[in-house]
Amino acid sequence: MPISEKIQTFIDRSSWIRRMFEEGARLREIHGDENVFDFTLGNPTVEPPPRFNEQLRRMATHPEPGMHRYMNNAGYDRTRAAVAERLSRTSGLQVDAGQVIMTCGAGGALNVVLKTLLNPGDEVIILTPYFVEYKFYIDNHGGIAREVWTRREDFQLDLDAIEAAISEKTCALIINSPNNPTGVIYPEADLRRLDALLKRRQQETGRAVVVISDEPYARIAYQGQQVPSLFACVDNAVIVTSHSKDLALPGERIGYLAASPKLQDCQLFMAGAVFCNRVLGFVNAPAMAQRLVADLQDESVAIAPYQEKRDLLFDHLTALGFKMVKPGGAFYLFPLSPIEDDVAFVTRAQQHNILLVPGSGFGAPGYFRIAYCVEQEVIERSLPAWSRLAADLGM
Ligand code: PLP
Repeated sequence: MPISEKIQTFIDRSSWIRRMFEEGARLREIHGDENVFDFTLGNPTVEPPPRFNEQLRRMATHPEPGMHRYMNNAGYDRTRAAVAERLSRTSGLQVDAGQVIMTCGAGGALNVVLKTLLNPGDEVIILTPYFVEYKFYIDNHGGIAREVWTRREDFQLDLDAIEAAISEKTCALIINSPNNPTGVIYPEADLRRLDALLKRRQQETGRAVVVISDEPYARIAYQGQQVPSLFACVDNAVIVTSHSKDLALPGERIGYLAASPKLQDCQLFMAGAVFCNRVLGFVNAPAMAQRLVADLQDESVAIAPYQEKRDLLFDHLTALGFKMVKPGGAFYLFPLSPIEDDVAFVTRAQQHNILLVPGSGFGAPGYFRIAYCVEQEVIERSLPAWSRLAADLGM
């Protein structure tokens, strides 16, 4: 039976993901697991913090009657209140539980927000290089993705380019900091300038642009780096996030969306988002995961090991002549491809058993992404292979 033509096109367009996966499996078969260095997936190999397991044991030892039933589509009040309390503390604003909806990960939250906001043909600005799913999510809800490059030299916000891209069709702007794939963090001053710019443009176009801040890496920031509170800087804002990375729970599908108390028509937005969480078929975020994370809002996996991994790879690759921005957080590096064709480069890397993702997958040909959320010893063992790859390319 034929499938939708659009979905067939989307599958073909993202076929490099499948090709990478198949190539990885083939190389492992030939060379053995330990000799293949897979830097393709943002799937953390670390385990959740010990307090997560304590909560899990407590829940299993003292099950509460009714704990597996449906609840309010927005989620448990206790979990939403815990999230709101942390957001109030970090932003200095009064965020209430009513402004929080528990979701199936950040991906679920993004879909809920986009479905709530978009009319057919509305534009959503995404910043290149971008997380590849944004385009599909925007399309899910009849929107059109408008790509705007960040500054090439440091992948920071190009405020002039954003301003130029805004029109009366613009409904929202998605930002992601710390960023996948570049690892950069947007500073507070730039977020405040963004807020001023959006208010200025609203006066001209008559339409407010909502900033959707996708921040699953917000707690993965390195020494000396601060991830500013979005709510403290931008008024018309919604946060979407999850515990996929900070508590290393990507398979549990637990996250949330939160609307700033300063969001225009905040109550109306929340009513729409609760409805969309329901009719997208999520109904509610997983009940057990909601219970587990309620008391873990200030917990995080250890950040120092990620920083060590970043330093190890950054120092080695820079010494070999690779050029890249030093990331302030998340667990990705996004170097310039030493040959123009990033797909050809990734194929050359495979010949040395190094698996990478081409920048084209993020709308940024000429770069490649390294996901270093792997065991430290995988990175250590990969270093000679990187040296051979550089020599092979005459670097
Ligand atoms: N946004 C970004 C930038 C991501 O990197 C990811 C996952 O890798 C997601 C959203 C989706 O996260 P979740 O697993 O919480 O749906």
